[in-house]
Amino acid sequence: MPAGQLMDMILKDDLAARGSAGDNLCEAQASSPGRWAAILHAEARRAYLASLVPQLLASLKTMHSALRNSARSSPLIAGARRHVANTGLIGLDEEESFIYDTCLSFAREEMAPHMQAWDADEVFPRDVLRELASLGYGAIYAREEFGGSGLSRLAASLIFEALSTGCVSTTAYLSIHNMCAWMVDTYGNEAQRAEYLPRLASMDVRTGLPLIDCPSAWLPEPGAGSDAASLSTTAVRDGTCVTVCSPLPTRRLCACALVRLGPLRMLIGLFLGDEFVLNGTKAFISGGGESDVYLVMTRTGSAGAKGISCFIVEKDTPGLSYGQKERKLGWNSQPTRQVIMEDVRVPASNMLGGEGKGFNIAMAGLNGGRINIASCSLGGAQASLEGTLEYTSDRKQFGRAINDNQAVQFRLAEYATGLTASRQMLRLAARELDAKSSAAPALCAMAKLEVTDRCFDIVNGCLQLHGGYGYLKDYKIQQFLRDLRVHQILEGTNEVMRMIISRELLTQA
Ligand SMILES: Cc1cc2nc3c(=O)[nH]c(=O)nc-3n(C[C@H](O)[C@H](O)[C@H](O)COP(=O)(O)OP(=O)(O)OC[C@H]3O[C@@H](n4cnc5c(N)ncnc54)[C@H](O)[C@@H]3O)c2cc1C
Repeated sequence: MPAGQLMDMILKDDLAARGSAGDNLCEAQASSPGRWAAILHAEARRAYLASLVPQLLASLKTMHSALRNSARSSPLIAGARRHVANTGLIGLDEEESFIYDTCLSFAREEMAPHMQAWDADEVFPRDVLRELASLGYGAIYAREEFGGSGLSRLAASLIFEALSTGCVSTTAYLSIHNMCAWMVDTYGNEAQRAEYLPRLASMDVRTGLPLIDCPSAWLPEPGAGSDAASLSTTAVRDGTCVTVCSPLPTRRLCACALVRLGPLRMLIGLFLGDEFVLNGTKAFISGGGESDVYLVMTRTGSAGAKGISCFIVEKDTPGLSYGQKERKLGWNSQPTRQVIMEDVRVPASNMLGGEGKGFNIAMAGLNGGRINIASCSLGGAQASLEGTLEYTSDRKQFGRAINDNQAVQFRLAEYATGLTASRQMLRLAARELDAKSSAAPALCAMAKLEVTDRCFDIVNGCLQLHGGYGYLKDYKIQQFLRDLRVHQILEGTNEVMRMIISRELLTQA
């Protein structure tokens, strides 16, 4: 049965109940198969979670094979499978395969046609991000209680890998947003989760303002980069009693003394201080100026990792401003700016996870963040190889296709092997993170190091196989190269990954 009819049949009751929303779904089905496939997946999962439409669940298997068949008939997927260039589905269960397939379709329909324009014009595709959020990808691995999707890290990796075949930069932004949503879900108290998570999950301010509702800031400032524990932005406790009675320098002194009083400080803080005053500048903040909420890591205590706390800071807070939009080699569909804090006052209740926990929160978030960003590299390299297979078949020199030369064939074989190896490494790390294994942090670092380096080399090799055309902006390959390059630098540089792995090795020795 055609997938379209299946959708109509299964959702008949549900759509009838939805009225015009149902019509929209049918419209989406007709106009955009990729979007429809993604909607279908989201609908099935929503129904599953809410147990609203039990027949949807029963029919998931049929829907899946129908979609798989329709995807197989598309030139891109059919081509990729013919060439064994995409081993993405191997080893996945039914739901995981479904997620991967539908995200590939979404990437092909909704992102790939626009990625070059988004790059050239530096367009931040808010609508596409909101659409992805409406499909459940705004808080993928946050719990369902406050709007998260409750999926696994493995599922998140599949989603980011597949979406990146359509646009690496946009997907990478989504991955950072998801990391922050997880931090709020995991370390936030009930009130913080209730207030922020639904809005983070929707990535939609609903008022029509051109803003994405997500946090985005965490570590370095102009002074502290790889050595994040040395950061020097400050958050000083300040409170009504002290504020009323003393001039500013005295308040600061009192507050500085307070944060050194150990266990007593919370008690004294309750009496004296119900606000923190944040000062300093954060560099390189993805989404800076566009985000509504920032998770700011700042120093509330002594030097080192244990003196760092994390605050939720709303974008309209007085004293918060942004630097110029950075001009970058790649990642041009998302803005990067400094976030500047000058006497930014936030309620003490905006502290996430307790005083001195900021560094731990950042490090825990980064384990998953590293898998996510490496998944974006994998998706970009996958799309690059698929494009290169096509290009080297079409392009003829010396009277035959370029890929009739064994030297070229060997390179293609190495790239396909590299992608398969990268995929397995990433999925191993994701599964270990899902299992909360103690080996997970080192495995995440290994996967990030290996996959981002390997995939960049693959894309660079693919560009070489395009000859001079690969250097032209008419071809996507140069954009994949530019977009992937930064993954070797952020979420901890690949040198820092080596530090993490060797530290683990030497601790065990
Ligand atoms: C486009 C972009 C977006 C970003 N988005 C964010 C964001 O949203 N939030 C955020 O917090 N950060 C973000 N970053 C910052 C990123 O995380 C940092 O750039 C990165 O952590 C490296 O810090 P640094 O640039 O200060 O380099 P440095 O720490 O100065 O390092 C410079 C070089 O020295 C090497 N090095 C440093 N120390 C050692 C050592 N001990 N041994 C060996 N080698 C060493 C590094 O590996 C690197 O090669 C972003 C960066 C970019 C480029």
